[in-house]
Amino acid sequence: MDKKRRDFLKIAGVSTLAGLGGTAVVDQLISGSSPAGANAAHEVDSGHSAHEDTAKSGIRWGMVIDLRKFRANPSLGEKVVKVCHSTHNVPQFPNKKDEIKWTWLTEYEKAFTEHSHYYKDEPTRDHEVLVMCNHCDNPPCVRACPTRATFKNKEGIVAMDYHRCIGCRFCMAACPYGMRSFNWRDPRDGLDMSAINKKFPTRMRGVVEKCNLCAERVGLGLQPACVEACGSSKAMIFGNLNDPKSEIRKVLKDNYTIQRKPSLGTHPSVFYIV
Ligand code: SF4
Ligand code: SF4
Ligand code: SF4
Repeated sequence: MDKKRRDFLKIAGVSTLAGLGGTAVVDQLISGSSPAGANAAHEVDSGHSAHEDTAKSGIRWGMVIDLRKFRANPSLGEKVVKVCHSTHNVPQFPNKKDEIKWTWLTEYEKAFTEHSHYYKDEPTRDHEVLVMCNHCDNPPCVRACPTRATFKNKEGIVAMDYHRCIGCRFCMAACPYGMRSFNWRDPRDGLDMSAINKKFPTRMRGVVEKCNLCAERVGLGLQPACVEACGSSKAMIFGNLNDPKSEIRKVLKDNYTIQRKPSLGTHPSVFYIV
């Protein structure tokens, strides 16, 4: 890491802690106003709303996660996490502080904080929920990023350009779902380099990462690795939310679904059948 980058990281780290903690900032980011200095460059450069790109391309990729299918097959959640992490060379570190995660299983009340948790039925109480980046249509993490290292592509995927990431972690403070991880260590130290997926880049120390909705696979016409890992179970359904004839839209039409923290107005592209 060169000296200029290191100096910026020190300043940004202090700014993050001092200026970006708390819900007030998240509220600002969701409503579109800037936390002082955090996204001025982005606003000048972008000059359009987050919704315009997907409207132009006609595609907004999304996911339905059917928790009934995960409950019916209790080992499926771990399998999905493993496949995602091996596909994307996500390092494994024993120390919690260094942990990098793209998708994981968590308790129902942590996944759905806005829903009532009184007198839960047994299946809900006893099974964990798969969480991942929601690829929000109105993503506060994108607005928080001063370098456009995190951006929403024209198909609605909230993606990362690791080379533009300066490690300021504004995006982590801005994400109300905690779906981003920071590489405190060289991630290659947590990988078996002889067994990595050579088709996907490894990252470096000092950058943020998260689920990319398998943009590299979707671009080739493939399903996301997690969806493929579910086989024919249809525990995860991926597709174009803008296409009324798509399978995902049919599933959304036929089933009651919920989203995580809908009141924040982030418009997640991930839906859950509970
Ligand atoms: S879940 Fe978090 S990281 Fe993912 S798009 Fe939404 S705000 Fe950004
Ligand atoms: S993606 Fe990198 S540069 Fe952008 S806000 Fe996150 S840490 Fe900072
Ligand atoms: S969409 Fe791809 S990156 Fe995201 S959780 Fe699934 S396998 Fe991982």
